[in-house]
Amino acid sequence: MQFPPPPPEPLMTPSQIVKFLDQHVVGQDEAKRQMAVAVYTHYKKIELAGPDRVEIVKSNVLLIGPTGTGKTLLCETLSRVLEVPFVTANATSLAQSEYVNEEIEAILQRLIDKAEGDIKRAQRGIVFIDEIDKLRTLAGAHGQTRGTSGEGVQHALLKIMEGAPVKIKDSLYIDTTQILFICGGAFVGIEEILDKTRSFGFIATSENDNDKLLERLNTRVKPTDLFEFGLIQEFAGRLPIVASVKPLSREMMVRIMTEPKNSIYAQYRQILQNDGVELIIDPQVFGQIADLAMEYKVGARSLRGIFEEMLTPVIYLVPDHPEVRQVRIASLFENPRFIGTRPAG
Ligand code: ADP
Repeated sequence: MQFPPPPPEPLMTPSQIVKFLDQHVVGQDEAKRQMAVAVYTHYKKIELAGPDRVEIVKSNVLLIGPTGTGKTLLCETLSRVLEVPFVTANATSLAQSEYVNEEIEAILQRLIDKAEGDIKRAQRGIVFIDEIDKLRTLAGAHGQTRGTSGEGVQHALLKIMEGAPVKIKDSLYIDTTQILFICGGAFVGIEEILDKTRSFGFIATSENDNDKLLERLNTRVKPTDLFEFGLIQEFAGRLPIVASVKPLSREMMVRIMTEPKNSIYAQYRQILQNDGVELIIDPQVFGQIADLAMEYKVGARSLRGIFEEMLTPVIYLVPDHPEVRQVRIASLFENPRFIGTRPAG
């Protein structure tokens, strides 16, 4: 006997999506809301697609902000809450290839693999392409000798972002119409372009809601700004939704280490727990680590390395010392204290 397929789970609302994101991504509230609305609209449109509806044009998303501040994490977490396959790609490495179309097909193939071969599922996936700002075409930009020009990569990406059937293998096609493309990049210098265009606009003076809306519209990154930055017009036009993440503050770094469900602290506590040892890191140590990480200027990316440096000697010693019950780190400038050690002699 065949059972009918279960009814699809109702789509989460934007605020429910944000709640889920909050469990994994620290801060970046504005970006969370923008992205939640973008994905909600996208998937709602797919859910309700029908012949007698107004066709809502696909809006791919641009996510601007410094490296290591949660762009990839945000997109990956979104894909998890929506239960859609997710892959990342890097625009710089696309530009380094002479066979950019093949590289792009490989991205779509990875998406199919993530969907365990289910093309229908892959066709609703999310593709995150990082470092899209590196494709800028500037007059006088130093010419590359190998690979594909930034403009060439943009044209190649445009085809799949607009939505088209792409041939992967002999008779295997994937339709990219419903795939959500999120492009990421630091876009260093876009602020100055915004400042220029802003001076022609209106200036919000009071705190009433309408002014807030005007100010938001006024500070929004528009396709024309992206064009001026150096993206080709058609490509910029394909990224009508722009969200941005902020640089991480010291306080956010501390929260990143400790708050998310699988925070780096929770992970290392688990590793030591596996050897029957409780790891305790005193609060001031997180501040010291955050100070160090701020100096490296790669957002939260340096945290793992610092933790590794700090805890590798501990993880090396602990398995040989079953009497140790607790390891406590009180400062980055002191050796870890091993508690439970039998008194010598
Ligand atoms: P990028 O903005 O360059 O895409 P990632 O999302 O890859 O940065 O983040 C790099 C690392 O830092 C990841 O391990 C991620 O878990 C952590 N991280 C960065 N920003 C945040 C954040 N806002 N909340 C939680 N973790 C973060």
